Amino acid sequence: MPTPKRFLAFVTVCALIFSSTPRATASAYDAHPKLVVVIVLDQFRADYLERYREDFKGRGFKLFLDHGADFLDCYYNYANTETAPGHSAIGTGAYTDGNGIGGNEWWDLTRNKERPVSSVEDERYALVGVPNGGKTSPGASPRNLLASTFGDELRLDTLGASLVYGVSLKDRAAILPAGAAANGAFWIDQASGRFITSTYYMQQLPDWAETFDDSGRIDQAKQEANAPDSKNFYNDVGATPAAVSYELDFAKALITGAELGKHPTTDVLMLSISSTDILGHRVGPDSPDQRAMVDAVDTDLDDFFTWLDKNIEGGLGNVWIALTADHGIAPVPADAAKLGLNAATIDMQKLVANLNDAINMKFSPGEKVEYLLPHESLPYLALNPPPFDRAGINELEAEQAVQNALPAAFASLVKPAASTAPATAKLPPTPEMFRSYTRLQMADGQLPNTPFGQLIAHSYTPNGGWYVMVIPDAFQMAAHEGGGTNHFTPFSYDRHVPLDFYGAPFTPGVYHGRVEPVDLAATFASLLGVNQPSASIGQILTQALKPAAAVTYPKPVPVRTHPVRRRRTAESKQ
Ligand SMILES: [Zn+2]
Repeated sequence: MPTPKRFLAFVTVCALIFSSTPRATASAYDAHPKLVVVIVLDQFRADYLERYREDFKGRGFKLFLDHGADFLDCYYNYANTETAPGHSAIGTGAYTDGNGIGGNEWWDLTRNKERPVSSVEDERYALVGVPNGGKTSPGASPRNLLASTFGDELRLDTLGASLVYGVSLKDRAAILPAGAAANGAFWIDQASGRFITSTYYMQQLPDWAETFDDSGRIDQAKQEANAPDSKNFYNDVGATPAAVSYELDFAKALITGAELGKHPTTDVLMLSISSTDILGHRVGPDSPDQRAMVDAVDTDLDDFFTWLDKNIEGGLGNVWIALTADHGIAPVPADAAKLGLNAATIDMQKLVANLNDAINMKFSPGEKVEYLLPHESLPYLALNPPPFDRAGINELEAEQAVQNALPAAFASLVKPAASTAPATAKLPPTPEMFRSYTRLQMADGQLPNTPFGQLIAHSYTPNGGWYVMVIPDAFQMAAHEGGGTNHFTPFSYDRHVPLDFYGAPFTPGVYHGRVEPVDLAATFASLLGVNQPSASIGQILTQALKPAAAVTYPKPVPVRTHPVRRRRTAESKQ
């Protein structure tokens, strides 16, 4: 039996041994994991993963489907399913009513009377890295984001030690999910394809980014896209699989250049793949071209994950990866109409003209005042306050007048039936309005106490001045030149997105039951041991989390700091 004194020494040594053993459980503060990567597929409906599953090879999508937690029923719980709000929801764990981002752009007459401003436009922060010096384009920043992201919270909690970056072909998709405290966001100059940023983040591009831009990789992507002479990289290359590997190669250059995953605390990369959306708008979700794009993303993710496995210390075992999308997509209206759905297209110019006529009739008979602003796009119709003011009409009356005029304005889009005889074939689809809500109704919460009412409440934005939210019937959308399709509604096809996790804390398997993309930020904040983002309403996905004791990470490479330091102290005493 050891004497009490010896026993005490033994206990002390044991305590020292155990306290110096790295924590096995997740904590951002001991770099467990080294790196969190959130992959946002721009316009990617969750059913693609089932539909095209037999195409997938390697460790692309199958990393999640075979080795990760795969949530089959993830739906956005809001109604304005556009790119900027979707990316904001993923980062902030909040919807538009919490993070402020209601659309890709909106009218702000105090900032611009000619056109809507974009969600990330900011003239105070010039673009950096644009070939012409960026003088022709407004700058960019996360100025409109009213909530913190989980990356912001990680930066706050680690006093800036953790690094957070955003990457996309699109400015809004790089800037918004990363957040206001991000170290950098990179997107492309649409004409040249060069990756750029803004002075919000840095005064000049890092050397590694300039090296990438000058490496000839742009020309390689143009060649691969069969567009060697392209003067618009975004349109010509962006809509091809060549842009997916181009973007992922930039992400590798960023991870290497910024040394992500090599810090004492966890780093984060928010990576949005844009090409699925650029092509998807043109060809729709059911096109063989979009299937080829999905397959190309699978191949490129396989390559990217293999690269991470080789280049992050401890491999993929030290990385958490999430996969989701900013929104789904409607079928091309003509395709849906063939199957009998009332998938009409809406002539927006005519709709707005009809509304202006009706409002003139009410407030200024015989005149042709433009009470609605130009460049209207659903779901928010923007009102033009100055002419209403001149007519002595306040916001409440103005929005109600537009709302009241909507059913007739929609009805007058319908071509009169040729005959009243019973139809022998299916009648052509007709535009119809499903619901409308004024800004004041939304702001005051005058909404039905139902799940649908909650969708609308989550879509309230303080931006955009006076507006009326207009939702046409399911499968209907504004007509676009050249056909194609769109996303902007509260209907399931626009809200259904993948939600998948790979990494040490997640129990692999298929998970049924409704979850939301806002759960991603909430779950990561919880796992990393930081505060929830400021407006987060996400649920922590405990059903897919292993007990903490079961979470292990690859052993770190031993670092001999203690003996060295002790020896130095001993030497200095001599
Ligand atoms: Zn889109």
